[in-house]
Amino acid sequence: MRLRFLTPALAILAFLMTSVSAQPMIKSVQTGQPVVALTFDDGPHATQTPVLLELFARENIKVTFFEIGQNVAKHPDLARAIVTAGHEIANHSKTHPKLGDMSDIAAIRAELVETQTIIKEATGITPVVFRAPYISHGPALWTVLGELKLPSISGSFSASDWDAKVTEDQIIATCSQAGAGDIVILHTWPEKTADALPAIIANLRAKGLRFVTVSELLALAAAK
Ligand SMILES: [Zn+2]
Repeated sequence: MRLRFLTPALAILAFLMTSVSAQPMIKSVQTGQPVVALTFDDGPHATQTPVLLELFARENIKVTFFEIGQNVAKHPDLARAIVTAGHEIANHSKTHPKLGDMSDIAAIRAELVETQTIIKEATGITPVVFRAPYISHGPALWTVLGELKLPSISGSFSASDWDAKVTEDQIIATCSQAGAGDIVILHTWPEKTADALPAIIANLRAKGLRFVTVSELLALAAAK
């Protein structure tokens, strides 16, 4: 008898837990527009950020850079160059820890807030989106993201370009599968990623897709 009352309560609790944990992490968006967002993590990088900026200027596309605070502090000129070129600069923590394993809210808050400040000081822009290092989330991180009203962006396609075993052709094949509303996760520093990009961009263009920043993608989802 008791179970009958308990079961609906548990079902509601399970639903709430799922919706609370699943909702804030954005992997892709529903949009009627033929748009895709390429994203690049872990910069700025002394040699590869300029390579990517030159490539995107040539291709005339805008992307999103999820930057590490301590790297921005080291290369504020490159962070400024990203913004000047019209790309989106976003928060990827200050020191790239596995935030999902951390329970110290103050330490997590410092990782995020100090990065917002470093990027603001370097570029004049306060980031409006965040990506967790290793896409690692825990309750304490969600609390801080809620406080700061920062959406956590993951992606629908990840080519694992950080992995030495993954080839340029594999990166091209994975990323070329992206479609409307997708977010593609890549990294700034691998040279093979820069080498793969002209083919990825051509393949996605051939599908009629155009390239937008993550914020533009979110706005197009909201506007649909
Ligand atoms: Zn990263």
